[in-house]
Amino acid sequence: MEGVKRRNPHQPEFVQAVQEVAEDIFEFIQDKEQYHAQQILRRIAEPDRVVSFRVCWEDDNGNIRVQRGWRVQNNNAIGPYKGGIRFHPSVTESVLKFLAFEQTFKNALTGLPMGGGKGGSNFNPKGKSVREIMRFCQSFMTELYRHIGADVDVPAGDIGVGGREIGYMFGQYKRITNNFTGVLTGKGLEWGGSLIRTEATGYGAVYFLANMLATKGEDLNGKTAVISGSGNVATHAAEKIVQLGGKVLTLSDSGGFIHDPDGITQEKIDWVKTHKTHRRGRIEEYVDAFPGATFHAGKTPWGVPCDVALPCATQNELLGEDAKVLVANGCKAVSEGANMPTDLDGVHVFKAAKLLYAPGKASNAGGVAVSGLEMSQNSERRAWKEEELQQMLKDIMMGIHQSCLTYGDQGGGYVDYVKGANIAGFKKVADAMLAFGVV
Ligand code: NDP
Repeated sequence: MEGVKRRNPHQPEFVQAVQEVAEDIFEFIQDKEQYHAQQILRRIAEPDRVVSFRVCWEDDNGNIRVQRGWRVQNNNAIGPYKGGIRFHPSVTESVLKFLAFEQTFKNALTGLPMGGGKGGSNFNPKGKSVREIMRFCQSFMTELYRHIGADVDVPAGDIGVGGREIGYMFGQYKRITNNFTGVLTGKGLEWGGSLIRTEATGYGAVYFLANMLATKGEDLNGKTAVISGSGNVATHAAEKIVQLGGKVLTLSDSGGFIHDPDGITQEKIDWVKTHKTHRRGRIEEYVDAFPGATFHAGKTPWGVPCDVALPCATQNELLGEDAKVLVANGCKAVSEGANMPTDLDGVHVFKAAKLLYAPGKASNAGGVAVSGLEMSQNSERRAWKEEELQQMLKDIMMGIHQSCLTYGDQGGGYVDYVKGANIAGFKKVADAMLAFGVV
């Protein structure tokens, strides 16, 4: 870890992600000479490559704007690089390296042939016109296209990148290369997209949660849930909780959180989806539409007592102190919809309390899993039915849960899901790397 810190100065998120995995892996590889001799841990913590590029675009007032873009191709031992693109002012090389590192293990856990990558830009889509977003996406792809391909690297959406942005980027890729191929996932249904891709991450996180509760003979019926975020993952997680009989109490955005003691019903979730996605509104306006709810500016929702919690906004949004509050309030299970939303202190609190705690790399893998299924459908040039895909998503989430049990069962009824996910994901990638020799 000293070496990782020295080689990656000023990259705290990346170091944090490596540390979290290494804590579990050190013990697992202790007596396995092949991993030591081949320096697997050292090699796995070094991205295959990091591409950094300039993205120039013109705003509506004719000003030239300059952003930085990246694609981190972390590891392609088990398949083409695969991972989303994020547009947010907080994006840095460190953030994308951490996400690409996590993605590698997550993708391995799905059982599908996908390596790990991630990309993005510090471009802030908030307040930009649709035309500005289109011009930015086109400029971004004008550089990115030379680094990606259906068998090379297949990006998807992430924070700030939804179906519209994927459409603009795919359009530009097709224009430059004259190639209609499955080079991006999260595409529109009319042009190669897959059913349930939009819902898959949030739904998958709830399926994983249900699998964890089932190990204690419980289910989601009648349980109260606290959710952060109000984007793609958060709203679909809320939707699935409601479908399974639970009551959702909160949603949030970077301005604060809303608390609705009456429960956030499907009708209210639909309002949030339209409000945040199409009207680009703020979550605080929820309280005008639904009196009875309260808005808490600048706060996160972890103080609201609940049975289950789903952090679905962004990294490091649930800190050690928040974790202590959740435990003290009797929270039974935490399923991460976002990537690394819980900081290392928080992870240690959940582990010490022996809570049912699922790290994002296991619980939010449903999105990339359906992206993998989108790639298969593109290769086959056909579209599978919704029921088939729903079943496949459920089966994949159950398979990931099973892998976590295999490597994370600590006896006495406690499963360390972080350890289970880290070891299962690591083993698959590491064994493939061993097969390739020193490359
Ligand atoms: P969206 O852009 O749809 O939504 C992101 C949500 O998080 C918004 O409500 C946003 O609020 C909030 N948010 C973003 N940054 C912050 C911040 N610094 N503090 C507080 N709230 C913040 O993104 P997604 O729902 O797609 O992604 C959410 C998380 O899930 C990310 O960690 C992503 O990597 C992860 N994920 C997503 C997958 C997918 O399929 N989409 C797959 C796997 C993981 P605001 O509107 O104020 O910005």
